[in-house]
Parts: sequence; C-alpha cells; structure tokens
Amino acid sequence: DKQDWRLVLVNKQHRLDGEYDIQLAYPDMTRIKGYKMYLDERILNSVYDLFAAAKAAGHELFFRSGHRTVALQQTYYNNKMKERLGQGYSVEKAAELVEKTLAPPGASEHHTGLALDITTPAWQEAGGHLISSFEDTAAAKWLFENAHLYGFILRYPKDKVDITHYSYEPWHYRYVGVEHATAIYEQGLCLEEYLDQ
Ligand code: ZN
Repeated sequence: DKQDWRLVLVNKQHRLDGEYDIQLAYPDMTRIKGYKMYLDERILNSVYDLFAAAKAAGHELFFRSGHRTVALQQTYYNNKMKERLGQGYSVEKAAELVEKTLAPPGASEHHTGLALDITTPAWQEAGGHLISSFEDTAAAKWLFENAHLYGFILRYPKDKVDITHYSYEPWHYRYVGVEHATAIYEQGLCLEEYLDQ
C-alpha cells in the first residue's frame, strides 16, 4: 500500500518540491545518546526500543542526525558547490562531485523525519566521520542484523547503489515499520525494489 506513510519514497527521482508536512518532535534525550534533533514523532518509541535493545546487546548507539529541512539541505548544497566551483570545476562537474556524498535539496530522506544517521559515542570521539568503514564496528554489524526487528532498514546497501543512486551508508537507517522492515531484510531488497513489487 503506497499510501502508507511509513513507505514514503524520497530519492533523487522522487524529490519534494517544498517542506514535507509532518509532526516533528525531539526525542527524549534521557533515553538515547546523541544530538537533539527532530524526528517524526510517530517513530520515537521505535527509536527508543532500537537504542535500548542495542545497549542490552552491549552496543551503545549515538543519534547523529535526524530531520533536516529542504532549506537547510539547500544551504549545505550551496556551500559544497561553492567549494567545488572554487576548485575550478564546471557547474556540471561540481554538481556531480557534490551529489556523490550529499543529496540535492528535496532529495534527502532526512526531510521525512523517518531517517536517522546512527554511529556510536566511540566513533564520534574518533572524529565521527561518515565513511563506509563504520560497517566494521560491532554496533554497525548489530544494527545491520537487528534493526528490522524494531522497524528500521539499512536504506543504502552496498549492493544496491545502482538502484538507490546513493553510496553505501552503513549509518543511515530508515523507519518503515516492523512488518515492512522484516520483509525487506529477509528478501534482501532495497526500498525502491520493495515498492516496485
Ligand atoms: Zn543519513
């Protein structure tokens, strides 16, 4: 059912042309570690459950990034473009380079409030870089194997780059609900493939 709010698709082919209208709320920061950033209030309990389950399994998680407005994404995008243009790249080449690691405004799943970037306190202390070697941490492995039990999917898998058009991001999780997440995980799909079924 594509009307299901949990399955909203935002990517480079399905961009929002304005702000996405949802009820945002800050997580209770006594229940999770991380930055105080907005999420869709409907997923907060699932986030608490995910973080608590990870902790019980010996993995402290860190909520690194949540909701982002289209306007803020535009600011990030403009700054990165300015940097590349300053290096002498053409507008087209600069955009290509920038979009390898940053979604264009309207194309970021963080606009939905359903996506979280998750690291660990230790990873943050070591610089907090969002790089693919995060996958080697015990916490990332736990997330990969268990997040679906709490309703979350690894949104940009390593073997789906051609479909998602996003680089592998072992830190980026997306809420879709337990039933969808479990089906997606068990069938080894990405969200685009699941919605196409
Ligand atoms: Zn992300």
